[in-house]
Amino acid sequence: GYGAYGGTAPAALAAAPVPEVQQAPVVVISGGARGIGAATADRFAAEGARVVVLDRDAEALEALPADRQGLRLDVTDEAAVAQVMERIAAQHGRIDVFVNNAAIADDFAPTTEQSLDAFERGLAINLIAPLQLAAAAARVMLRGGGGAIVNLSSIAARGGLPRRNSYCAAKAGVEALTRSLACEWAQHGVRVNAVAPGYIATPGVMALEAEGKRSLRAVRRRIPLGRLGNPAEIADAVAFLASPRAAYMTGAIVPVDGGWSAFG
Ligand code: NDP
Repeated sequence: GYGAYGGTAPAALAAAPVPEVQQAPVVVISGGARGIGAATADRFAAEGARVVVLDRDAEALEALPADRQGLRLDVTDEAAVAQVMERIAAQHGRIDVFVNNAAIADDFAPTTEQSLDAFERGLAINLIAPLQLAAAAARVMLRGGGGAIVNLSSIAARGGLPRRNSYCAAKAGVEALTRSLACEWAQHGVRVNAVAPGYIATPGVMALEAEGKRSLRAVRRRIPLGRLGNPAEIADAVAFLASPRAAYMTGAIVPVDGGWSAFG
């Protein structure tokens, strides 16, 4: 049968409609040292999970709370990505949940002045690395009989944002990967879903106004619920999609954006 996090094997349905969780899940979160990733780590740690945070920021890893493990990783280092997942598997025995969260959003160049290097860097971190990470996590999950992957997309996947070409393209790619990997791994008990946040009050988003890149007043006016989201509200959706309560969800993209994407 499948692991609790990946859902229930068809033949087992009659006997066990809701999979029972026997032990603390092993949850791995990329870019989990700050922002939404850190809030997601808080959430899983509070539920008693064994949380492993992957991040490139050594100082932030040193400052992590004691209820989670930090491992240094640059997600664009292909060999290191495969190694770190095997190291976690060796230490904890399995990986139940992987949250594909690390990303950058620092390129605001006008497209006509952007270098190919800058465009490729955006795709490398925000699209290619998430695929490599998902594959490395799934290798462990397939051996263990199942698991759940939650990718972080964005409203930028569907709504055009000016001077955000690689970010928009990468996030659209993350949504396409979510569907493709969900279909490939469903029969092996690995579910793949995504959360698409709107504007969330992280330090990076709050800095947009100070740097003159976005008016947050205008952003708030555009959001039906009239405010930015907070990182814990994204963590709630991630935790739900990862949990056995979402056992019949795979390939889904869940907007958590205060109604931004519903507004026509
Ligand atoms: P942050 O920039 O606050 O945190 C991202 C984390 O990922 C940082 O710790 C960062 O490290 C790390 N990271 C970046 N690049 C790498 C790398 N190459 N290797 C390892 N770690 C890396 O991001 P947010 O919390 O704002 O966003 C989290 C996710 O949510 C992202 O996928 C983002 O696209 C998505 N999202 C966020 C929204 C928002 O409003 N904040 C809106 C929509 C989507 P370092 O500190 O060194 O950069």
